[in-house]
Amino acid sequence: MKAVRFIEPGRPPVVADVAVPVPGPGEVLVKIGGAGVCHSDLHVLDHGVAGAGECRGFTLGHENAGWVAAVGAGVTGWKEGDPVAVYGHWGCGHCHACQQSMENYCENADNLPNPGGGFGADGGMADYLLVPSPRLLVPLGKLAPRDAAPLTDAALTPYHAIKRALPLLTPDATAVVIGVGGLGHMAVQLLRALTGVRVVAVDVDERRLEHARQLGAELTVNSRDGADAAERIRAFTGVRRAAFVLDCVGAQPTLDLAVQIVGRNSQLTVVGVGGGVIQLSQLTLPFGCSVCTPLWGTRAELQEVIALAQSGRIHVDAHYFGINEGPRVLQELREGKIMGRAVLVPDLD
Ligand code: NAD
Ligand code: ZN
Ligand code: ZN
Repeated sequence: MKAVRFIEPGRPPVVADVAVPVPGPGEVLVKIGGAGVCHSDLHVLDHGVAGAGECRGFTLGHENAGWVAAVGAGVTGWKEGDPVAVYGHWGCGHCHACQQSMENYCENADNLPNPGGGFGADGGMADYLLVPSPRLLVPLGKLAPRDAAPLTDAALTPYHAIKRALPLLTPDATAVVIGVGGLGHMAVQLLRALTGVRVVAVDVDERRLEHARQLGAELTVNSRDGADAAERIRAFTGVRRAAFVLDCVGAQPTLDLAVQIVGRNSQLTVVGVGGGVIQLSQLTLPFGCSVCTPLWGTRAELQEVIALAQSGRIHVDAHYFGINEGPRVLQELREGKIMGRAVLVPDLD
């Protein structure tokens, strides 16, 4: 089968022929319906995967959905053809966090032989994906796998971040989403679906700000010109400032902006891996501002996100490409040319 492969840090990805895996005891083989292309794939291509030991090649793709194709010995409850989303952070399955479905915070994360497809193990940018345990599958019902694949990360990550901040997200408060790409366009919708909070969206690209307005952002601000972005947001929020800032970029300019617009007794959540740094002291942030850097979401939350999509309360603005186009699509993502989410679909080759 064809697969989009990471070779080593700094090298472009390649499309290669690899063998279709055979599920061993307890494993499930999933036929891929769609594999989302995430900005984190670019971080993997540039820097490799931390903790994966000696760097070796693997298939990219950690936002996956498809159909059960075959089950290994001992797997019950699933049959060929069942449509499924694949939970992407493969924890140890038995620590305190994993037992509570929070595999994203697995206590053994530093020593996992198989931390997730596309993050050291073979991922889903291929015809088939080998999933190590059926506990990592969530039924999709009527959702088409290629539409659902980005729910497993582009929606699950902001969902988890927003859920942690829910008590602050009252109808008289303001939430600011910075970066309206794959994660950000889901974050705007999730804030609208889950809360009555007023939503402000920030980006450096006018098309993405228009996208945010269509999805329900009340105010959009282009931060390309720096200085007046904070003033414009403060004029909107008044002295109370933002109750919640979700930075889906995490670069120095966006973190600096976040610190200027966040209010007292607030939450500043950074999910973007842009390499910026926030100075944390009693004097550098408003009093009572919590800063957090959540990772992905829980298995239970993936079920909740899928329920939101099944009932039409959120949707992925997806653009579809074949597996062979993977390297070009990754390059276009790097150049800021992909709106919403790109999804690789094997059937399109
Ligand atoms: P994306 O490329 O689809 O979107 C990025 C958006 O940010 C684009 O709209 C872009 O125009 C905008 N942007 C870029 N620089 C900006 C700036 N200086 N100011 C304002 N907007 C700017 O990326 P994505 O797939 O949504 O991923 C976003 C980030 O989240 C990446 O760093 C990714 O690695 C990270 N991520 C983290 C987690 C997690 O669990 N913490 C999960 C998934 C992705
Ligand atoms: Zn991702
Ligand atoms: Zn664990």
